[in-house]
Amino acid sequence: MLQPRQDTVQAPSFADLTTMGVGGQIESFLCPTDRVGLIEAVEGADAQGQPLCVIGGGSNILAADEAFSGLVVRDARREINVLDEAAPVEGQDRSVHVAATAGTHWDDLVNYCVRMGLSGIEGLSGIPGTVGASVVQNIGAYGQEVGQSVDTVEVWDRQLKVVQELNARQMSFGYRTSALKATMYRAPGVPGVEFFPTPRYIVLSVTLVLRHSHTSRVDSDQLAQALQVETGNLMPIEQIRDAVLAIRARKGMLEDPGRYQLSWMKGTRETSNIQAATEALHMSVIQQSGGTTECDIRTNRHSCGSFFMNPVLDQKKAAQLPPQAPQYQVLYQGRPSGTVKTSAAWLIDHAGFHKGFHLENSMAALSSVHTLALTNRGGATAQHVYDLARTIQDGVEKTFGIRIIPEPVVIAQR
Ligand SMILES: Cc1cc2nc3c(=O)[nH]c(=O)nc-3n(C[C@H](O)[C@H](O)[C@H](O)COP(=O)(O)OP(=O)(O)OC[C@H]3O[C@@H](n4cnc5c(N)ncnc54)[C@H](O)[C@@H]3O)c2cc1C
Repeated sequence: MLQPRQDTVQAPSFADLTTMGVGGQIESFLCPTDRVGLIEAVEGADAQGQPLCVIGGGSNILAADEAFSGLVVRDARREINVLDEAAPVEGQDRSVHVAATAGTHWDDLVNYCVRMGLSGIEGLSGIPGTVGASVVQNIGAYGQEVGQSVDTVEVWDRQLKVVQELNARQMSFGYRTSALKATMYRAPGVPGVEFFPTPRYIVLSVTLVLRHSHTSRVDSDQLAQALQVETGNLMPIEQIRDAVLAIRARKGMLEDPGRYQLSWMKGTRETSNIQAATEALHMSVIQQSGGTTECDIRTNRHSCGSFFMNPVLDQKKAAQLPPQAPQYQVLYQGRPSGTVKTSAAWLIDHAGFHKGFHLENSMAALSSVHTLALTNRGGATAQHVYDLARTIQDGVEKTFGIRIIPEPVVIAQR
């Protein structure tokens, strides 16, 4: 069944559907409410050779100002199921499988799991977007990545026109990438022709394997510091979630809960969680006198989170970095991979682009609280954001010889 929100009223624009709040008018928009409807919508567009964009929360898309002459599909299903027969028993430390449909809000799932005493994704609290997109770019934060907890991903294969179940190995998760994302690009940051801006594989549902445990290891120094414990310590997962949300609020890395009041976003997130997110954001302002202000939250609320990925360099390139630049050994299957990750935020800052930086006559600016976030200050166009991104990329390349690559899906930039 497809919701009757199609073609009878004017479709929304990308500005209505994305956290960046920019982007042109969409030709057709469908919100299928069941699995068959979702596949039919995708299959119908592909059969007609119509441009297709499957969108989730729109929190990782920078869409062009020009109209999109194609179909945008948003999965309206928001279902979470604990698959194992026996309900989790407190005090036990065992695996529990949890399945969620692609359209489920990611943080609704995290909140649900933390409340159930299921650990494994609490460090990913507060990341905007949907379950479906979470596995496309292998979301990560504070020492966790979703790929570590994925059991299987059910997908519609647009090429073979079949439903498939991919296991974690087949998903080839890496730093902000997966086998699904790889189908969209010819080279890092260079869109492919056949499957862009949406991968060959459409995520229908994701099954996670979590531990039934009220505690989890703190695997990030920043998080450990916030919790006042050593990295590697075990802490209650509720406390980890609260600490992550507080750090995110301070850095402007929580989405604006107010967007769920807007007509095109209504019903895409659990109402009680919108309320809780609004209160948490408000509390963070009260608790941080001299820190984040209501004004910071308002000015920085339209972004895609971190706009650039941290560059992963070979040893030769890494040796050319200034000695003060952060460097982390990248591990592959627990062993050093011979590559080094550096910090995009450090490179941007040391290339002269500081918090709040903007071009003349532009409403796009670096966040006032986070160097890595490009923000729409209200009234920005996609071109403003794109010009800012390009200026920063060029500046970093000129200073350090490294081309930083956008994390969001950048549709039809000039
Ligand atoms: C304030 C803020 C903070 C953020 N913090 C983080 C962070 O800490 N870590 C992190 O990793 N990311 C972060 N992000 C980025 C973003 O939240 C994630 O990438 C998220 O997974 C995007 O989900 P979405 O549903 O909004 O995807 P969208 O933006 O809607 O889509 C992104 C891509 O996924 C594809 N897609 C969407 N649904 C499906 C599906 N069902 N099947 C196949 N493809 C699909 C789209 O076609 C598109 O190519 C942040 C963003 C914001 C705004």
